[in-house]
Amino acid sequence: MSRMVYLNGEIVPEEMAKVSVFDHGYLYGDGIFEGIRAYNGLVFKLDEHIKRLFQSAKTIMLNLDLSKEEIKEAIIKTVRANKLKDAYIRVVVSRGIGDLGLDPDKCKKPNFVIIASEIALYDQELYANGLKVMTVPTRRNGAEMVNPRIKSLNYLNNIMARIEANLMGVPEAIMLNNEGYVAECTGDNIFIIEGKNLITPPRYAGLLKGIKREVAMEIGESLGLKIKEELFTRYDLYNADECFLTGTAAEVIPVVEIDGRVIAEGKPGQYTQKIVKEFRDYVNSHGVPVYPEDQEKVS
Ligand code: PMP
Repeated sequence: MSRMVYLNGEIVPEEMAKVSVFDHGYLYGDGIFEGIRAYNGLVFKLDEHIKRLFQSAKTIMLNLDLSKEEIKEAIIKTVRANKLKDAYIRVVVSRGIGDLGLDPDKCKKPNFVIIASEIALYDQELYANGLKVMTVPTRRNGAEMVNPRIKSLNYLNNIMARIEANLMGVPEAIMLNNEGYVAECTGDNIFIIEGKNLITPPRYAGLLKGIKREVAMEIGESLGLKIKEELFTRYDLYNADECFLTGTAAEVIPVVEIDGRVIAEGKPGQYTQKIVKEFRDYVNSHGVPVYPEDQEKVS
């Protein structure tokens, strides 16, 4: 079945969901996006994703033309049109059609797209056994360059790192910032556990303030861990008791080897395993219902 795509107020079959080659999203990566999940008929952290979309839009001075409520409704409508209960939802807003110059003022109307599909980023086996990852030469953009907190359509910084990961034969790369501190991965945030401390880089390290990052901190706290947002180096990665990544696509996934150094005896650590499990329970009972019958699942 053809997927149904939201395009500027209408739901159309994917074959008809087309935007111009003069769109500055295509020409310059000028635009923003969000990746959102629905689990079990519930759209997870919808308000938080929409808030971040508005923050990205404000930062790049892109007028979304729709209210938060209208965007919420459009997202639900798109998931329903695809009859999905579990979905990966991509909201993409580009600057719109302009001329061949950079000037965004020439673009009069953004293109607003919502795609709802299925996704499985990693094999289930990796959630049980953990990932082997590497740090890569490409540094994460600094917060005063193109701030990684903007979820922009220009992911070349991350893609360069991802190419390096591919060359090294690993599924994800850890990116350092220009000072050599750990920032994040190409599509995920990173956590280490040292004793009873759950540590993740602070936002000024240069990273996307992930929504699953917040959830992992909440769960970690409920397990009695002390949450710390602080800078750390590769040394800390190598000597961590446990390590895991978080992201909308990746969810919570353990890391068991970094740059050839074995973490947590090569198996997902005990806290990480608990966080993976609690995360699964959490997403199945929290969120905005897509269909009326899913209301009762919300706890
Ligand atoms: N960092 C980057 C660079 C990302 O693209 C993402 C989203 N895939 C994340 C972190 C995680 O953010 P979230 O938990 O909101 O998906």
